[in-house]
Formats: sequence, C-alpha cells, structure tokens
Amino acid sequence: MKLEDVIRSRSGNYCELCKSQQDLSVYEVPPQDQSNAENSALLCSNCLAQVEKKS
Ligand SMILES: [Zn+2]
Repeated sequence: MKLEDVIRSRSGNYCELCKSQQDLSVYEVPPQDQSNAENSALLCSNCLAQVEKKS
C-alpha cells in the first residue's frame, strides 16, 4: 500500500485539520528521516498553505 493510500484511508479521505474534501494532498511534516504515515497528514489546499506558511 502506498503511503498516500494509508493516509487517505486513515483520514477517511478528509482534510485532517478542517475535514474539507477539496484539493486534498499528502503533507509530510518535517523533519523527515523517512516518509511514513506517522509524520504525514492529509491536508486540503487551504490548510496546506497555512502549514507551509508557518514552517
Ligand atoms: Zn483543511
């Protein structure tokens, strides 16, 4: 199973911050030693922009 599929099934295919279903993509929370579901989240484009602004 791909990482993205794991995260999508975990989140129910909703943004994990605001529960939107629009423009979802996987965000890998830094620092990344290796990509895994524990340090990644499914976010919509709005939340992704918020998170990336902060980091
Ligand atoms: Zn969101």
